[in-house]
Amino acid sequence: MANRQCGECTVCCVVLPITEFGGKPRNVPCEKLCASGCSIHNLPEHPQVCRDYRCEWLEGNVQEDYRPDKLGVVFWIGDPDTFGGVLKTVLRVNETRPRAITEQQSRIDSIVRRIKQRYYPRVSVIEVVYYAYDLEGPGLPNDGYRRVPIEIDGRLWMQHIKRDVAHS
Ligand code: SF4
Ligand code: SF4
Repeated sequence: MANRQCGECTVCCVVLPITEFGGKPRNVPCEKLCASGCSIHNLPEHPQVCRDYRCEWLEGNVQEDYRPDKLGVVFWIGDPDTFGGVLKTVLRVNETRPRAITEQQSRIDSIVRRIKQRYYPRVSVIEVVYYAYDLEGPGLPNDGYRRVPIEIDGRLWMQHIKRDVAHS
């Protein structure tokens, strides 16, 4: 495990959905987030999901320069999800700055490949789900992604889901 610290980054306090405090949807800032970070860090009410969360940068699977707040994109292996009736491992790729994925597409693709290589062959298939602002139509190339719109806090986002099997 890499010896990294989050520093000034608080990206997961925005992207991560939590059920505590009335429920915080994905991509909405947490009500406990303040200028210096989590206001309840180390207090008993600090949710377990937050204590457990480690993005792939913190895990050392993303290059040091690409901390989520600097890259504008965060990567994490979260809870498994069901695709085609089968429970699968999911790599979530969440944009935190509009167009951060499209503007850095080759870099993002290379980070995704790098992360998947770290997990294969312990898992056979990783579904990659991208969350990008839906600004002006397709945010990512239409190359096999299934696009599923989601409304979060009154704003439209687009999930781009791609099943990836070419990992050998
Ligand atoms: S997104 Fe990653 S680096 Fe940023 S605060 Fe969360 S765990 Fe730390
Ligand atoms: S409770 Fe704290 S660590 Fe958890 S999302 Fe809110 S601000 Fe972040």
